[in-house]
This record gives sequence, structure tokens and C-alpha cells, in this order.
Amino acid sequence: MSLHRTATEPVIADSILETIGDTPLVRLARYGAGLTPQLVAKVESSNPGGSIKDRVAVSLIEAAERDGRLQPGGTIVEPTSGNTGTGLAIAARIKGYRVIAVMPDKMSREKIDLLRAYGAEVVIAPTDVPPDSPRSYYRVADRLTEEIPGAFQPNQYRNQANPAAHEASTGPEIWEQSGGRITHLVAGVGTGGTITGIGRHLRRMKPEIEIVGADPEGSIYSGPEDQVRPYLVEGVGEDFWPETFDRSIVDRYVTVSDRDSFLAARRLAMTEGILAGGSAGTALHAAVEVAKGIDDPAAMVVVVLPDGGRSYLSKVFNDTWMSEHGFLGGGPSDARVGDVL
Ligand code: PMP
Repeated sequence: MSLHRTATEPVIADSILETIGDTPLVRLARYGAGLTPQLVAKVESSNPGGSIKDRVAVSLIEAAERDGRLQPGGTIVEPTSGNTGTGLAIAARIKGYRVIAVMPDKMSREKIDLLRAYGAEVVIAPTDVPPDSPRSYYRVADRLTEEIPGAFQPNQYRNQANPAAHEASTGPEIWEQSGGRITHLVAGVGTGGTITGIGRHLRRMKPEIEIVGADPEGSIYSGPEDQVRPYLVEGVGEDFWPETFDRSIVDRYVTVSDRDSFLAARRLAMTEGILAGGSAGTALHAAVEVAKGIDDPAAMVVVVLPDGGRSYLSKVFNDTWMSEHGFLGGGPSDARVGDVL
């Protein structure tokens, strides 16, 4: 027998864009110890740009190319909390577009640097103004789109290519990877694209599935509209209702504080070796709340972890930042970076 293996067909992607999606579904046996149902995570940091938004970015660009709104050499302007901008910047490098990302000023330094590393231009707008203020990041993006010739704004808050990307890829992946055993989906809601798209697919496959929105305290989705206020977790919650969010898809919400979100993300890193962002912590904390209320061992709670933790090393995973905000101290759940659990 020859020691040399016979070479088969090469498996080489034509560009990094082809490697988007097909992210792993991972059982969180350690984090979920003591819970009756299985707790399982869709780990979206495995995408090339490090987040679930790579899927959406390609879908937005290709829809605009098809209907002629984006011409060769055109400029893409988008209000983004960072991840959509990164996905857009990656796709734009391959496809030859200019990208201008307009970001709220609460976003982490790492996300801004990351966008610039991919060649995007970054414009920062204040977080603490109403969405219809001319200074809000939404309105600044609108103004730039009007002013720059050939500019196109995908508008992930209105563009149905956003939920469609999840309906076509993330939803079917979760269904197939879980072997159809998923009983509960828990996901954060920013534009609503993730929960709407995944939810639509899962509802079709299993109408009795329960879909739970994980929402920060201060967001409009689960709180009273007169108590909308800023919070620190990035990428989830809103102060308005986006058109990409089909409210009827959500059966119920779990409201989660910044503190619980960040401590959940830290504990996930310590227990499972999965470094995920603050909004993953929001979803994870909510998923555990959901799982605590289930006494069926055949149930499977799937939680979406939208991005990785490397963009938050100076915040969620920084003890000084966490202490300054009063998020550390006061309980055994406050795993500090470096603790052995
Ligand atoms: N988490 C993070 C870190 C995000 O950037 C986003 C996108 N805004 C979400 C969660 C929420 O996803 P969606 O917009 O699909 O609701």
C-alpha cells in the first residue's frame, strides 16, 4: 500500500465570501450544567468578519447589484453598530466598492479600527440623541447618501434582504444541525433580521416552536415606550421599530440588564472557551432563564451568539472598565478574567 494518499478534488474557496455561513452549533454542557433541557449555541464568530452580519452584508449587496441600485465602483453608506459595516467592507474589497460606515459613539475602539483595517471609512455620530435628530447616526448616513454621487444605502433596518439572508441560511442551518430537535430559539433583536428570518424558517418546519427575544433593559422592544433609555450592550435593542422586524414572530421577551449580559459573556469564556460579545451574553442570559422554566429533558434551547469577544477586550473583558461601571463585585457569578471556575 502506498504511503501517499491519492489526491482528490481540491476544496478551495474562490474568495473569502464563499466561506460565510455554515457556522457550528455547540452544546453548552458546562455553562448549562443543572438545566433540564439541552442548551445549544449557534456560534457566529466563525464567519470571516467575525459576526452573523457577514451573511446579511453579502445579501444586501447582491440584492442591490441585481436591481441596479449599486453600480460598479459605487459607494456604500450604512449606519451600523460595526458588524454589518465589517461584512460590507469585506464584500466591498472583493467586489470593488467604497464603504462609509456611520457608527454611534458608544461603539468599541476595536470595532472602529477593524473597519478601517478593511479599508472602510468611519464616521462617528452621538448615541445620546433621538433617532430623528439630524445628528443621529441614521440621519448622518442619510445625508451622506444624498450628498455623495453614486452612493447607495443598503439600510439594514428597512431592507428585506436582511431577514431573507437568515431565512435562507441561518434558519435552515439551525434546523438541520439540531436534527429538527430544536424546541426554543433565543436571539437578540437589533434590526430584527436574525430573529425574523430564522423564526420564519423554523415556524414553517415546526409551528409549535417557541421564539424568544432577548432584549436589553432600556430598549423599546420589551420595555414600556416611555422608559426607552441608553444602555451599554452593543448591537441589540432599539429606540424605534424597524421594518425588518416582524413583531408577530416573537412569542415573548426576556429583558436583560447590561450587568447580566456582560457577566454571562465572561462566564461563557471561562466555562466553554467560547469568546463572544456582550449581545451574546444578553441572549445567553435569556436562554438560561427560558431553560430554567422547562422540565422536559427532550427540549432543546438554541441561542444565537452573534459575534466574537475580541471586539470587546477593552470593555466586557476588561476588569477596570467593568468595575468602573459597577458590573463587578457582589456575587459569586462575577467571574473575573483570570479566575479559575
Ligand atoms: N448582536 C450584535 C453584536 C449585532 O451587531 C447585531 C446586529 N445589529 C445583533 C446582535 C442583532 O442582530 P439583528 O440586527 O439581526 O437583529
